Amino acid sequence: MGHTEERTFIAIKPDAVIRGLTSTIIKRFEDKGYKIIGLKMLMVSKEQAAQHYAEHFGKPFYDRLIKYIQSGPIVAMVLQGYNVIKGARQLMGATDPAEAQVGTIRADFAQLKEYNSVHGSDCPESAAREIAIYFKPEELCTNWKNMTELVTEKEDLE
Ligand code: UDP
Ligand code: MG
Repeated sequence: MGHTEERTFIAIKPDAVIRGLTSTIIKRFEDKGYKIIGLKMLMVSKEQAAQHYAEHFGKPFYDRLIKYIQSGPIVAMVLQGYNVIKGARQLMGATDPAEAQVGTIRADFAQLKEYNSVHGSDCPESAAREIAIYFKPEELCTNWKNMTELVTEKEDLE
């Protein structure tokens, strides 16, 4: 009761896409029950990269981060679910794969923090900002029901 769904922005980063981990990583989020309401593969533009990582401008790793995120395709996603911002980051694990718990995406599929396989928004404000960088409102499929909702609805009819 009283639970409200959130949205978050997730990106499968170039090294993970190139290594063929797209479906494996998407599955981690789907298995949790999060609803995918936006999904696309794209090459990140210079402008998108700068907007996305604006908070890190000036940091020692900034230039390499910007270059890396544009080095190949990313798979961008919007997920919807209860506490999805925190929950998705738990599935991702700590920024540095060497510190991430075994069983998380970064621990299981990455070795270095510079190439840590996934991005996920860290708060509702970042989520809204990041979703808008990569998706137009009309690109989000907000009007479909997942299995749980369908089954509940069917039972209600019986
Ligand atoms: N990053 C890096 N070196 C660092 C810290 C961060 O290369 O010392 C990269 C890393 O790819 C990370 C991204 O910059 O995912 C954004 O950093 P942030 O602190 O926001 O970590 P995240 O939110 O991705 O866990
Ligand atoms: Mg971050």
